[in-house]
Amino acid sequence: MNSQDLPKLALGAFVSGLVFVAISALIFWPLEELLEGEKAARPKFKDIAYLWFYQSYGLWIGAGIIYELAFLLRGFLPHTWSVFVKQQPFWLQAAVALLMAEVWVYSVHRLAHRWAFLWRFHKVHHTLVEMTWSASSRQHPVDFFLTIVGANLPAMLLGIDLRSIALFILLERLYTVMLHSNLNLDWGWFSKIVASPNLHRLHHSPTCRGKNYAGILSLLDVLANTYQSPPSTRVPEPTLDGKPEVVS
Ligand SMILES: [Zn+2]
Ligand SMILES: [Zn+2]
Repeated sequence: MNSQDLPKLALGAFVSGLVFVAISALIFWPLEELLEGEKAARPKFKDIAYLWFYQSYGLWIGAGIIYELAFLLRGFLPHTWSVFVKQQPFWLQAAVALLMAEVWVYSVHRLAHRWAFLWRFHKVHHTLVEMTWSASSRQHPVDFFLTIVGANLPAMLLGIDLRSIALFILLERLYTVMLHSNLNLDWGWFSKIVASPNLHRLHHSPTCRGKNYAGILSLLDVLANTYQSPPSTRVPEPTLDGKPEVVS
């Protein structure tokens, strides 16, 4: 990268964060009004700042760490491995990369609820007392980078350039915004495969600890016996005293 490109890239990241916040607000703010009704939660400036930073410079810094780590780790992989990966169709490479990302997100999230060292970072995310579209990125930087780097590193190691799956990453980020939105939405039986807003609300609920860790692929919760269906009545809002199920 040419050092003269740096200001342009920095401005690009700044603007892309603003565009992400604008898209999230345009889609999910009206949806919250439509699908929630007695809506009380209002976006907070602090949460919008988190959302903007992590979707701009956060992703930028994360991508830099991923590229460096992948460069270092690729040296340990046999050449035949990268040749084999490149021979596979793109859809298969992308599907495997996304599956590995989901397994990482599930595992590190579950560990963060069980291990006091990681919980001290993850508990920042559990300080949200109202589910709303702006709150999805309320995260400690350690929690954010651990999740984003671990989720996307396998794709790089597979030889998939992050730029080629940028659309998937954008959709995944928007899906995370939706999961935290104040939407009374569930997919019925399909929620056992793909997470719904009601399912993730349950993860933040004081009545439910140690359940529904998955990012998007709730099938992982079903397989690991940490799945809990949303009740037919409304799930209570989270509380400030969110605690891990076990801290050792
Ligand atoms: Zn959690
Ligand atoms: Zn959450």
